[in-house]
Amino acid sequence: MNNHNDIEIAAGLIQKGKLVAFPTETVYGLGANAMDPLAVARIFELKERPSFDPLIVHIASVNDLKKLAGNVHENVLRLVDKFWPGPLTVVLPKSKLVPDIVTSGLPTVGIRMPKNDIALMLIKKSGCPVAAPSANKFGQLSPVCAEHVKKQLPQTDYILDGGKTEVGIESTIVSVNGNVCSILRPGYITAIDIENALPGTFIFDILPPKTNIAPGLLKSHYSPKKPLFITSETADVLPSSSGLILHSRRNHNCKADKVIYTSVNYNYTEIAANLFSALHDMEEDEKISRIFIEPVEETGLGIAIMDRLKKAAYQYRATK
Ligand code: AMP
Ligand code: MG
Repeated sequence: MNNHNDIEIAAGLIQKGKLVAFPTETVYGLGANAMDPLAVARIFELKERPSFDPLIVHIASVNDLKKLAGNVHENVLRLVDKFWPGPLTVVLPKSKLVPDIVTSGLPTVGIRMPKNDIALMLIKKSGCPVAAPSANKFGQLSPVCAEHVKKQLPQTDYILDGGKTEVGIESTIVSVNGNVCSILRPGYITAIDIENALPGTFIFDILPPKTNIAPGLLKSHYSPKKPLFITSETADVLPSSSGLILHSRRNHNCKADKVIYTSVNYNYTEIAANLFSALHDMEEDEKISRIFIEPVEETGLGIAIMDRLKKAAYQYRATK
C-alpha cells in the first residue's frame, strides 16, 4: 500500500513535468500536468498513442470544472453532483487554459473526478489538473494493477501502487447539449443511471456510425497480444493451448488448458472488475496461445463489458 510520502514524491514529479501512473477506481492512469504541453506530449510518446486521440483531464474539485470548461449546462452540474467522484467523464467546450495537445485540437475537453483516494490526493498535492489516459501501450489491455503498468510501460517515472482497481473498466463518457445527453462511450454508469439522474432529458446511447465526436473510439482496442475469440458455445473440445474465460462457476465439459472465472454467477459488476485481469493473466501465461471468452447479454453494464470485449477481439472476429 501507499504511504503519504509516496504521493508527495509523485506530486513533486508531476510538478516537474514527469509521468506518474496512479490508480483510479476504473483502471490505472498515466498522468501528467495537464497544463504542461511538453509533459502531455510525453504521454503520447510513451503510450505510442496517436495524436488524434484526446486525453481525459482529472480533477479533484468541482471548481476546476468551471476553470477548464466554459458554459457548464445545469444538466452537467446535475450529473457531476450525482456521479462525482466516480466513473463519469463529461465532454464540455474547453476554456483557453487547456492546451490543444490535451484535446487533440478539439474545441471540447473531457473531464472527470476519479473516486480513488490516492488519485484525488495526487491531484490535490500536484496543484494542477492531471491529464491521464490508461497506463498501457496504445491498443493493448488496460491495466488494473501496478504490475500491469510495469509490464507495458516500464519507462514510467513513478508508479503509485494502490492494488487492484475496483470497477475495472473505463469511465462512461457523455456530452450534454441542453436536454440531450449522448453517451460517447459506455462504462460503469449506464444509460439508465443517467436517465434517472436527468429526468426529462433525451438520452442517445448509440452513436450514429462514422461519427467523429469521440475520435479515439476505434473498432479495435483493449487487445491482448494473443488471439481472442468470443464464443457462446463452450465447446467440449478446444484447440490445444487454449485458455477459457467464463462468467459463472459451473460444471462444463470443456477441455481448456486453463479456465478463469470472472464471476460466481454472471454478476456484471464482478465481471467488469475481473475482465482485464483475466485477459492479462491469459496473455502472460506461456502455455496459452489463444483465448476464448463467453459473451454477456448487452443490457445495463453488459453493454460496456461487450464494448470492451468486441474491441479486444476485433481482429479475430468471424466475419470480416
Ligand atoms: P481513455 O483512453 O480511456 O483515457 O479515454 C479517452 C477517450 O475519451 C478518447 O479516446 C475519446 O474517445 C474520449 N474523449 C476525450 N476527450 C474528448 C473530447 N474532448 N471529445 C470527445 N471525446 C473525448
Ligand atoms: Mg485506454
